[in-house]
Amino acid sequence: MSTVPAAARATRPTLAVFKLASCDGCQLTLLDCEDELLELAGRVEIRHFLEASSAVGSGPYDLALVEGSVTTAEDRRRVHEIRAAARHLVTIGACATAGGIQALRNFADVAEYRATVYARPEYIATLATSTPVSAHVPVDFELRGCPIDRGQLLEVITAFLVGRKPDIPDHSVCFACKRRGTVCVTVAHGTPCLGPVTHAGCGAICPAYGRGCYGCFGPSATPNLPALIPLLRRDGMDEPTLGRALRTYNATAFAELAARSGEERPS
Ligand code: SF4
Ligand code: SF4
Repeated sequence: MSTVPAAARATRPTLAVFKLASCDGCQLTLLDCEDELLELAGRVEIRHFLEASSAVGSGPYDLALVEGSVTTAEDRRRVHEIRAAARHLVTIGACATAGGIQALRNFADVAEYRATVYARPEYIATLATSTPVSAHVPVDFELRGCPIDRGQLLEVITAFLVGRKPDIPDHSVCFACKRRGTVCVTVAHGTPCLGPVTHAGCGAICPAYGRGCYGCFGPSATPNLPALIPLLRRDGMDEPTLGRALRTYNATAFAELAARSGEERPS
């Protein structure tokens, strides 16, 4: 039960959660907050969150969370509508911040993909690319991850609701490994790992279980891809494997990083 007094509940800021092209995993992270969600529901008016309730409330919204990428003309229209209705717009997850795994179409022929995947491709209306929300409208904050981390999500919501900058570090997964005392899987075992160029936020889960990071939080703030690629090759990654490693949930972000770094991959 909420501990928020009735007077405070009457003037609560409004929150809306929207979905574009996505798997819903990031919205589920919000539902997964359980106890904190009850407290949050007492402090904000959740006006639009179809994964939690079929009630639909109109804007303006103090904070809009947007999951998913822009893959259709309708998404493109909606994202402008959401922006116009939101005082603050935060994108959540790899789909919304980098185009997601569905951005693999950006490197291929979308008509060929459509014909391969769907029995009746003529019924599918889609754009040729999957793009992040920030490619279409100004975004106030981008929260990385596939899916996002629940602690980071609560921090971002709290920060926007009280009017301060979110405290979300932008360093690499390597920092998180050091912080939790995980022995480096590359140094100790020669395991290929994208941790040195990947944004922290997951708590370095994969290396803690002895496997290399595959970059699901996207590039960190100051990644040095040219320095990492020879190590990945040394540890057994051939060119196709390297290309695939950089083309997962954040394919466009790593492609932009590779282009900025003067690297050919993963194009
Ligand atoms: S970022 Fe990952 S978990 Fe979140 S909606 Fe996209 S595919 Fe799902
Ligand atoms: S792939 Fe990397 S960023 Fe994603 S959960 Fe594993 S260690 Fe974290």
